[in-house]
Amino acid sequence: MKNKYGWILIGLLFIFEGIFSFLGYKIFLKFSGWINITNYGSLYLIIIGLCLVIYGYKKQEKQEIFSKCPNCKEVFNYNELTNGKCKNCKEIDTINIEEYFKKYPTELQDKNE
Ligand SMILES: [Zn+2]
Repeated sequence: MKNKYGWILIGLLFIFEGIFSFLGYKIFLKFSGWINITNYGSLYLIIIGLCLVIYGYKKQEKQEIFSKCPNCKEVFNYNELTNGKCKNCKEIDTINIEEYFKKYPTELQDKNE
């Protein structure tokens, strides 16, 4: 899914449908239309919803954090690093990509050329 919030939105939808159906309202499902479901069904919806939200949240976290090593100039996914240390240079701390280009604005120009 391209939209990083997509999973979270779908998850929230499941949770809302779960709560509504639990309260006795009919809910709309894509494959079956408007239906009444049992309390167990509601519970399943809420659990599926929670899983989707957590999945979406983790996915989003992973996508968003990148850091760059000031020594070898390599860009890493921060989640793959141990304490933010560069994989190639071991003891060198990588810098969050946005912070990095604030610190070294000239490299941003090099990159664009
Ligand atoms: Zn490095």
